[in-house]
Amino acid sequence: MILDCHAHFDPQLLDVPTALRKMDEVGVARVALIPPLNGPIPDTPKHLLAVMRHLMNGRGRPLAERIHRHAMVDGGFKLGKLAFPIFPLPDNEPVAEVLRAHPTRFLGWVFLNPAVDPTPLDTLERYRTVPGMVGVKLHPHWHDYRTEVLGPVLARCQELGLPVLIHLGFGERGDFRAICRDYPRLNVISAHAGFPFYKDLWRFRDECPNLHVDLSSPYIDERLARATVAAMGAERCLYGTDAPYGFHAEDSSYDYGEILGWVARMPLSEVERDAVLMQNAARLLRLE
Ligand SMILES: [Zn+2]
Repeated sequence: MILDCHAHFDPQLLDVPTALRKMDEVGVARVALIPPLNGPIPDTPKHLLAVMRHLMNGRGRPLAERIHRHAMVDGGFKLGKLAFPIFPLPDNEPVAEVLRAHPTRFLGWVFLNPAVDPTPLDTLERYRTVPGMVGVKLHPHWHDYRTEVLGPVLARCQELGLPVLIHLGFGERGDFRAICRDYPRLNVISAHAGFPFYKDLWRFRDECPNLHVDLSSPYIDERLARATVAAMGAERCLYGTDAPYGFHAEDSSYDYGEILGWVARMPLSEVERDAVLMQNAARLLRLE
């Protein structure tokens, strides 16, 4: 059984019937969907992604941060002369609708932005009760806030036993150590193998026993995915895709096989592989 813990609902790029067909082709049983964060976005060129990965995973991180800040504009980001919108308050309703229609195949993350939403706990309350909503998604990187503003949301998630999937930002926009320390019973899943810290996050594995990572997106590659699992241990790593962004199939929809191939080729026992592909998510998302 395979569960994709990190996918986006962007029906213009991948509608539900196509997603279901793609999932069936490769044996993905369930997908946890994130409500839409952005309007149509371009693919980041492969070489630019490779450069950013290299910078972020080493001493070039301050430069990567400057490049990121330069790209951030009011209401979104720009790539060259083109600007792309980021939704300050992602609408959870479209994913709630998918969960009602396909309760056995899709799960959902309640997307909160406490930097803009005056009542994030009310938004949480409204959507966490929708069957299939399994946790909270937070995006201090594109929503551009310091993780210290997350206090009340994280406290409530800890109280409710809801995991958080968080795409960390640079510096104080990604203070995972404070989060894990201050909310020791909160299960934290850092998106994209600990982006933008990578190995500088993995080395806090023992200090942060509630810290996990997903293996989604071309923010990482096969080599980095292997290094992540070697450093964090299979029990802290979750399969995810970032679909429909990143890896395109020949029919120009999403290639679900790419990251599955990375996991299939990793030197893991069957129990460890099963943990990465399903069991860790089943435990953290409380599907058992
Ligand atoms: Zn994502």
